Amino acid sequence: MFTLLKNNVIIIGGGLTGLVSALHLSKKGISVVVIEKNSYPKHKVCGEYISNEVLPYLHSLDFDPIALQAKEITKFALTTPKNKPIETKLPLGGFGISRYTLDFELAKKAIANGVTIIEDTVVNIHFKEDIFTVTTKKNQNYTAAMVMGAYGKRSNIDIKLNREFTKKTAPFLAVKAHYKGSFSEDLVSLHNFKGGYCGVSKVENDHLNICYISSFSAFKKFKNIEDFQEKVLYKNNHLKKILENAQLVFDKPLSISQISFSPKKPVEEHIIMCGDTAGMIHPLCGNGMAMGIRSAQIASNLLVQYFNTKITSRAILEKQYTKEWNSEFKNRLKFGRRLAALFRMNYFSEIMMFGLKLFPWILPLIIKKTHGKPMKPMK
Ligand SMILES: Cc1cc2nc3c(=O)[nH]c(=O)nc-3n(C[C@H](O)[C@H](O)[C@H](O)COP(=O)(O)OP(=O)(O)OC[C@H]3O[C@@H](n4cnc5c(N)ncnc54)[C@H](O)[C@@H]3O)c2cc1C
Repeated sequence: MFTLLKNNVIIIGGGLTGLVSALHLSKKGISVVVIEKNSYPKHKVCGEYISNEVLPYLHSLDFDPIALQAKEITKFALTTPKNKPIETKLPLGGFGISRYTLDFELAKKAIANGVTIIEDTVVNIHFKEDIFTVTTKKNQNYTAAMVMGAYGKRSNIDIKLNREFTKKTAPFLAVKAHYKGSFSEDLVSLHNFKGGYCGVSKVENDHLNICYISSFSAFKKFKNIEDFQEKVLYKNNHLKKILENAQLVFDKPLSISQISFSPKKPVEEHIIMCGDTAGMIHPLCGNGMAMGIRSAQIASNLLVQYFNTKITSRAILEKQYTKEWNSEFKNRLKFGRRLAALFRMNYFSEIMMFGLKLFPWILPLIIKKTHGKPMKPMK
């Protein structure tokens, strides 16, 4: 048995949400262990466009993604198979950086702050007499006063915890790769196709991120990714042109399946859930990473108050986290789910495009609805 200090936190999952929490808590003198099943650096299926709303907070953690050569993105374009593209200025703007670089640099920073990162897979979490025991695949037990779940959209732990969403269908899959190709550095574009949409933007090393999500039912009729792209994505001429002129940098595209947007609970079995583990917004909204970072801030602020006894009990902490999480994200998630459902109906996406052309001021309003306000720096 590996026993840690009394005011310690174990964070399960060292993606951006877990690592940002680790940075915040370690800066406040709290002992943090992150358990991450993969080694760094690693590519992830993600559109890699992040809203600028996170910058004031990241800067207060001494982390500056722009210094890592992230591409500054100011414009947004939307296309459908039958309509001309619409372009608008992004209300807050954002930046493009690969998860390969972002997660790796956050991990390096966390280690420099004194965080311990253990490469192992968590297989069980047990809570008894106010103490958590976390068991890993390598058969190690770690104890902690607090456990944060930041293990992404779907994991073995969700099944172990018998979480409601694991009993429902998860009918989406996603594909991502980096390419060489010409594309405006300051643009993120979304291209609608039957059953899904594809995002395109540049990242730090001038590579082009092309990442799409599709319903599994639309995909399963085709032999493989290439066949699907040619027969379905290419129906959108704008996307066809981008894909045909881009050279794949990866050996092959990465893919993930079983993606679900079903509601989840922000606290389960006393574990404080953050990022995609607490709820996943449809990638169409391009705000999942910002939401992960924001939930990391909410949870970390409350954990600091719990450890310095301003919050006097675990029950109050859990209630407060649930309240703040719901007030920040519940409506945004609902709006994202509805928007994505509309976009999946081909005829409706064309009608929407027509409407957006007539009333172009609606598009920035939709973007604002799916994004947050600039975050506050760490207190
Ligand atoms: C197709 C697609 C496109 C997207 N595009 C964008 C976009 O352009 N902009 C945006 O803001 N968001 C986007 N998102 C959403 C974004 O990727 C997520 O919101 C974000 O990755 C959430 O970060 P996280 O740290 O919560 O989870 P993750 O990044 O998934 O990190 C979870 C970590 O936990 C680890 N882990 C899992 N299980 C265990 C275990 N049992 N033990 C130990 N470790 C474990 C994993 O290895 C992983 O490193 C997109 C998502 C998809 C699917």
